[in-house]
Amino acid sequence: CDMGGLENLVANTAYLNAQGGDDKELRRRRRSLLLPRPEQCAAIRSSIPLDFEQVCERQPIGKKLFRQFLLASKPEYTAAAEFLDELNEWDLEESGSKDKARQNIMNKFCRAESNSFLSYLSGDVTDKCKAVSEKDFDEVMMGKVKDATKKFLKGKPFTEFHSSLFFDRFVQWKAYEKQPISEKYFYEFRTLGKGGFGEVCAVQVKNTGHMYACKKLDKKHLKKKGGGAMSMLEKRILEKVNSRFLVNLAYAFDTTTHLCLVMSLMTGGDLKYHIYNMGERGIEPNRVIYYTAQITVGLLHLHAMDIVYRDMKPENVLLDSQGQCRLSDLGLAVELPSGKTICQKAGTSGYMAPEILKEEPYRMSVDWWALGCSIYEMVAGRLPFKDYKEKVQKEEVARRTLEDECKFEHKGFDAASKDIIMEAFHTVEKEKMDFTFHHFFKSISFPRLEAGLIKPPWVPKPNVVYAKDMGDIRDFSEVKGVEFDSNDEKFFKEFSTGAVSIPWQQEMIDSGLFDELNDPNRKESSWGLKEN
Ligand code: ADP
Ligand code: MG
Ligand code: MG
Repeated sequence: CDMGGLENLVANTAYLNAQGGDDKELRRRRRSLLLPRPEQCAAIRSSIPLDFEQVCERQPIGKKLFRQFLLASKPEYTAAAEFLDELNEWDLEESGSKDKARQNIMNKFCRAESNSFLSYLSGDVTDKCKAVSEKDFDEVMMGKVKDATKKFLKGKPFTEFHSSLFFDRFVQWKAYEKQPISEKYFYEFRTLGKGGFGEVCAVQVKNTGHMYACKKLDKKHLKKKGGGAMSMLEKRILEKVNSRFLVNLAYAFDTTTHLCLVMSLMTGGDLKYHIYNMGERGIEPNRVIYYTAQITVGLLHLHAMDIVYRDMKPENVLLDSQGQCRLSDLGLAVELPSGKTICQKAGTSGYMAPEILKEEPYRMSVDWWALGCSIYEMVAGRLPFKDYKEKVQKEEVARRTLEDECKFEHKGFDAASKDIIMEAFHTVEKEKMDFTFHHFFKSISFPRLEAGLIKPPWVPKPNVVYAKDMGDIRDFSEVKGVEFDSNDEKFFKEFSTGAVSIPWQQEMIDSGLFDELNDPNRKESSWGLKEN
């Protein structure tokens, strides 16, 4: 009997079962959970800034509680909340259903005789709202009326929210969010991949059943190789970005042996695997367009925060269980405040832009170059300057990149794909690049893509593990002769900041735990909470 194979089968089965979710143990755990009592939360309360955007828009639980507050208060507060929701839905509606949604909004919110008329508006905004027509709907409602609504909500409603039971509940959730995190918070499953400082495995949050990937960095290994500063940089960048197209960080904690980064779990494999290991080399055109669109938005989100990725390649683009992709491995990313350049050589051979190879100062253009190479690779199953499985020195690939022309011999290229690749190769002359208008993307509505509303063209099979077998990736080597001093301990503590607000709150909502603990009929948890 093949013990490695058997072990792999057992590990895969446990992992796949966990993703199915909802077992008895989970329900039992949940019944015993309690939020911290209000009187335990005084310090947390005073640490929350009185900032409308932070509390009521950016944080998912704050946003939800503020909305619940509005719906439970005066009719004009309810109207404001419903108006913003419906306007947002209209904005993302497919063109076929837009007319109807627009008409509904006009009837409900713009007519003085309607119960939901936006009566908080004043002066010429009221007049404009009452007189709105199909023609100027977009301009008036998305402009002046929306702005006035937000301004209204920021005033008295926000102040009243702040002294309501809904805000007390927010404070309790914030206290819960700040709980210390250790390995006991998770169940651990099979290894998914191997990184430079340790393995990445699947984990599950015991309280919610939510699955994540946990990147474990061996503390001794880090110290020996001097990888601490780099890992801290990766962690800081990961926790700052919050995008549907980037792997997000949900928790950072440490064990006696490892620093751990808990991130979005991507079960569908990486794009390199899909290009080379799924039968015929390359990816179908409609998938290439979809993935490229998501990658483009991911890069734009990074660039908007002045971050260069520097490791754009199909291997670093991972698919989730739905078939949507995210950029991962931000280990080479750096922050370049506006105007600043860098000339450090970084990246992967075959994807590096001429400006990097020549060690000239560069900014975001290198990511667009690497995207061009990646689109080429998805279509052709080879790189523009390196053939599939070609044994060639880095220096020769660099020479070709600098001197040769990019040839499009593969039959999969059409005019649009050739054109976008050539554009990507010429971004160095421009300071900013927006590909979203390129005709390569004529089938994609970017606002709908960004809202997660476009169905993926390909969905991974739920019973397949798109990762190499565990025997091939496990690492047994142990680092010897490394001792930690007080500086190391200080560094580990700085790294281990626990839950990251936005993804953590989203997890509470998506798993249903938010509703469960807020339920006024829940025995242990009426609005004034019982003992913990
Ligand atoms: P390193 O920076 O050390 O190279 P990576 O972040 O690239 O580490 O992770 C190593 C491997 O672990 C990846 O190649 C991939 O196979 C797997 N992996 C990483 N992040 C995830 C994730 N979020 N979901 C699933 N697998 C992942
Ligand atoms: Mg990697
Ligand atoms: Mg890395």
